[in-house]
Amino acid sequence: MTPSPPGEIAATLKRSGRVLLLTHVHPDCDALGSQLGLGQILTGMGKEVHLYGEAEVSHLYDFLPGSETVTVGLPDLPSFDCAVALDCGDAYRLGREMESLLTVKPFLVIDHHAGHQFFGDLHWVDPARSSTGEMVYDLAGALGAEVSPEAAYCLYAAMVADTGSFKYSSTSADTFRVARELVLRGVKPAEVAGKLFDNYSLARLRLFQRVLETLQLHENGRIALITAPRRLFAETGAAPEDTEGFINYPRSLQSVKAAVFLKEAESGMVSVSMRSKGRDCDISQVATEFGGGGHRNAAGFKRFDTTIEGLAAELLPVLADLVRRC
Ligand code: AMP
Ligand code: MN
Ligand code: MN
Repeated sequence: MTPSPPGEIAATLKRSGRVLLLTHVHPDCDALGSQLGLGQILTGMGKEVHLYGEAEVSHLYDFLPGSETVTVGLPDLPSFDCAVALDCGDAYRLGREMESLLTVKPFLVIDHHAGHQFFGDLHWVDPARSSTGEMVYDLAGALGAEVSPEAAYCLYAAMVADTGSFKYSSTSADTFRVARELVLRGVKPAEVAGKLFDNYSLARLRLFQRVLETLQLHENGRIALITAPRRLFAETGAAPEDTEGFINYPRSLQSVKAAVFLKEAESGMVSVSMRSKGRDCDISQVATEFGGGGHRNAAGFKRFDTTIEGLAAELLPVLADLVRRC
């Protein structure tokens, strides 16, 4: 049976004229692809749609059709009939305007994070789904809406990114069903893969070289750690978002159960990406313990007023405890 959104979500969207679409800060491809894809679907239904962003779309994702329609700055919030937050597991990840954005009623939430912290009024949260993009496709079905080739492209890119090219454990028969439908609507998988994975700058590759040199193994190779201190960005000319995907390399080691990447994105602020392997190795528990969140095998958090070394010293014992159990 096709999993479908609660009827109230589709009914609310059907009767809304002006819709505000939101996603999490530092949006990844699933966040933006879902926001742009749903935006195009609702526009096709004759609705007025506003895509809010806390910042300009990263150069990594400006290939997504319609990325230029994401608007920075708060719109006239009372003018909306509803808001939809996509791929956002926690209200805080709506960003610095969280409180204002949450005043839009009704506030709908569509998400697939395992540790979802409920906020807003109407929810469709399904941790069994690979990506929010996959859910948005089924929402279009419930709305009886057209999925244009541009919307299909955005949703497909969202799915490829969040499943690691249909590799992660979240990849299901529903994932392939939706991917098939999107390809039937004209998406070219090789083109999307090219934009996502073969589209990097030399600065990024130079940064990658330096970051790989930091590789440390702990707990008999069951934990792999890489780091990106602030100075490496200045020395290579790469931007903080250029580290997308680095975590997959420590993760790829056969012995590794848990991989962690500590990035000093700003002076004194360390952002942490973590990955684990297998059903029994829930890294989102570690992220939650440190004030972040995520999925069973991919999670993260941020810490201010710290150093890479200080945070590594705090985190390694917790990770050691986790890998001893899985
Ligand atoms: P990343 O390592 O940045 O690709 O993040 C992996 C997953 O961890 C994301 O899909 C988010 O669900 C979650 N995550 C990352 N950073 C944070 C954070 N600061 N707070 C909560 N969840 C996070
Ligand atoms: Mn996301
Ligand atoms: Mn996602």
